[in-house]
Amino acid sequence: MTDARRRVPRTDVVLADPRLAEPARTLGRAAVKAAVVAAQERVRAGQVEPEALVDVVLAELPASATSLRRVVNATGVIVHTNLGRAPLSAAARDALDVAAGTTDVEYDLATGARARRGRGALDALARAVPDAGGVHVVNNNAAALLLVALTLAQGKEIVLSRGEFVEIGDGFRIPDLLAASGARLREVGTTNRTTRADYEAAIGPQTGFVLKIHPSNFVVSGFTAGVDVASLADLGERLGVPVVVDIGSGLLAPHPLLPDEPDAANALRAGATLVTASGDKLLGGPQAGLVLGVRDVVERARRHPAARAMRVDKLTLAALEATLRGPAPPVRAALDADAAGLRGRADKLAAALAGAGIDATVVACRSAVGGGGAPEVELASWGVGVPAAWAVPLRTGDPPVVGRVHEGRCVLDLRTVAAEDDSVLADAVARVAAGRVPGSVASTLSTLSTLSTPASPSSSRN
Ligand SMILES: *Cc1c(COP(=O)(O)O)cnc(C)c1O
Repeated sequence: MTDARRRVPRTDVVLADPRLAEPARTLGRAAVKAAVVAAQERVRAGQVEPEALVDVVLAELPASATSLRRVVNATGVIVHTNLGRAPLSAAARDALDVAAGTTDVEYDLATGARARRGRGALDALARAVPDAGGVHVVNNNAAALLLVALTLAQGKEIVLSRGEFVEIGDGFRIPDLLAASGARLREVGTTNRTTRADYEAAIGPQTGFVLKIHPSNFVVSGFTAGVDVASLADLGERLGVPVVVDIGSGLLAPHPLLPDEPDAANALRAGATLVTASGDKLLGGPQAGLVLGVRDVVERARRHPAARAMRVDKLTLAALEATLRGPAPPVRAALDADAAGLRGRADKLAAALAGAGIDATVVACRSAVGGGGAPEVELASWGVGVPAAWAVPLRTGDPPVVGRVHEGRCVLDLRTVAAEDDSVLADAVARVAAGRVPGSVASTLSTLSTLSTPASPSSSRN
């Protein structure tokens, strides 16, 4: 072992190896050094030849400084909470890159003075929701609700229907969130029926505001009754209390495929004092919370001391502005993709894979909106079906492809896959198949290279 010890290359010598220059630049010298030290241990233990040390270091180093992996979402769930909800548009990704450096987020380059933070994003939001006299952005919709509760109801009551006591996910419940503000909840009505008279009886001098929460992740049907925003706003106006509507999803205007999802424009037009919403989910931007509505009230929320604890980062502001001003984000593209176009892509992919002897078929499937939104809506879609046993190797491959196992097949729903990723998907399937159908991968990959150009719906009509 003394011999092996003598033969362990010195750390500074290894670190000077030109092959480690690029990893040191992208991952940091400390990470590379730690990998070198670990590899030296293995040389010392006789597990690695001294000459192979740098190769071992290179093999052990991660590809990127973040442990987050890019994932191809072939689940058919458009806003997949576990996969990071909304994927950003190329415009929003570019905006992130600009904002990542030193930037004029709060600075007027013309005058050299401090400027309104995030004015570009706020202007874009105000333009996107002309019915809102004021707009404010916080970290997420939960923060928006908390800020509104702190501003309007601390030490007072929030009047809320028993049918709208919503748990949003991971054990978090909106009523508990609201109570954390120091407001008391005044429950009205029942799980299935709440009337205008119920609200009216509960409103008094102790009322901070009336809240209407969109039950975005469940449906109550049968013998039900609720009160619409216009009627609540009328009541609020008469009794002098604000009405706040939590629409959840971030739809700023109605969407024809989602008739039951409330939107900000209609809630404000119906007379809501404030609307709260998410910036991701159906808006398709970065995680953010929107507070929209009557200017003075939004301004009070913005100036509340707790607002600072919910302030959004320059990255969020940049991505939100680009989402609002730029081309339709991927969530919108996925929602609006027509079934014929998806079928064309599925035909092409399955034909190329099957042509290489791979067990891949075209399958009709149904996509979901996800993200706790539009729970009843299913969208007709098309995908590629491969053996169910391939689900795990696809998920653990590089890049990981996450599909859905249904009726004995692993279904890769193309609605949630960007058309330019079809070749990525095909390569992933071919690699998994290669482990099972020897020799198929090379020929498949050459066939698949013809899929690399984005397939437009019209060019892939079947
Ligand atoms: C999703 C949702 C929330 C929470 O939004 P986040 O942006 O995740 O904080 C609140 N209310 C409703 C109705 C929702 O659907």
